Amino acid sequence: MTASQPAKTPTSAVMKTYGRADLSFVRGDGCWLITDDGDRYLDCASGIAVNTLGHSHPALIAALRDQAGKLWHTSNLYRIPGQERVAEKLASLTGLDQVYFCNSGAEANESAVKMARRAAYENGQTDRTTILCASGSFHGRTLGMLAATDKPVNRTGFGPMPDGFDHVPFGNLNELRAALGDHVAAVMIEPVQGEGGARDAQDDYLRGVREAADEFGALVIADEVQSGIGRTGTLFAYQTSGIKPDIIAMAKGLGGGFPVGAVIASEAVGNAMTPGTHGSTFAGNPLAMAVAEVILDEVTAPGFLEDVRRRANIMRSLLAEVAGRHPEAIAEIRGRGFLCGVRLADSVPAGDLVAALRELRMLTVPAGENTVRFLPPLIICEDEIRLAVESFATALASMTSR
Ligand SMILES: *Cc1c(COP(=O)(O)O)cnc(C)c1O
Repeated sequence: MTASQPAKTPTSAVMKTYGRADLSFVRGDGCWLITDDGDRYLDCASGIAVNTLGHSHPALIAALRDQAGKLWHTSNLYRIPGQERVAEKLASLTGLDQVYFCNSGAEANESAVKMARRAAYENGQTDRTTILCASGSFHGRTLGMLAATDKPVNRTGFGPMPDGFDHVPFGNLNELRAALGDHVAAVMIEPVQGEGGARDAQDDYLRGVREAADEFGALVIADEVQSGIGRTGTLFAYQTSGIKPDIIAMAKGLGGGFPVGAVIASEAVGNAMTPGTHGSTFAGNPLAMAVAEVILDEVTAPGFLEDVRRRANIMRSLLAEVAGRHPEAIAEIRGRGFLCGVRLADSVPAGDLVAALRELRMLTVPAGENTVRFLPPLIICEDEIRLAVESFATALASMTSR
């Protein structure tokens, strides 16, 4: 297969909602994925920013095995001790108050939007329902989150869309202020956009969003589904700005591969959600909580995030060296930490480069604005980073010399 051919999609009964590469992995080991043929791939995708601690991390295996032998599922009709422990950690790590558990990123955002609207409603502001989203945003695939996501093509054939979602240009405070008013329940923002192309919202902008939202009586929802759980070098990406959102949605990295999401909210928002207002059968089950607890403990262990930042900076400067040698092919290195993006010149389609890298046994993920995302497990070591950047340089050279 040459780089420019589309990935081969094997025939199977699985619905073709993904254009899948003809690769199947049977085992994982740290930052490596191993196919049924025994080929080893360097994983700089992490299942799209999910495998926070890589594959087969011993502490995660032990926690899941231990919980699997005790209890899998009860119901949110009863107390779940693991939820109480994880919620306590998330609340104290963010200075917010109440945590709602769910199963995915779309569900976390959907829940965040419900909370923002309900909080306004409980305040007697029943017309405050609009959610302001950003251009280039991605919030998920449910009907509600299709309306929130700024990708009209994803909505084709799925209308009618739910009302109450407007979009403003990402990073533009004047446009945001012009769109705010007493009809707005919340501003929903990814502090670093993932699918949009590893675009950093910048701390100044986030501070401006917080200020403007306060002025107009709107809440701030941080969609940290991709940027959260240490991915950008801090536990949550918004934290470098010093602001405090009212609601934080997370999912991808929280379970390190086990499906789990969560929403952390302020007391005022949380109090609007009384028994019966929201729920999900599987949400926050004991298996998910056992794993999430380990993830949070590891990521917040002394020195862990500091070392993530150090290694991410190494990757970034090595990528910048490659960019310096290929100004015709690389437009910009962007993103933050290990949510790192290389925006390519139009002559180098991101999908082709991802395919070329796959040929070199390395996994990356394409994103908006012709960007290739490097999303390695947060535990990637310096040698693996060097190997990843060498493969990237080789793939780029093979494509630009044609
Ligand atoms: C992936 C993603 C979602 C959707 O998460 P799912 O688990 O796929 O539903 C929402 N927001 C952001 C920022 C994401 O990256």
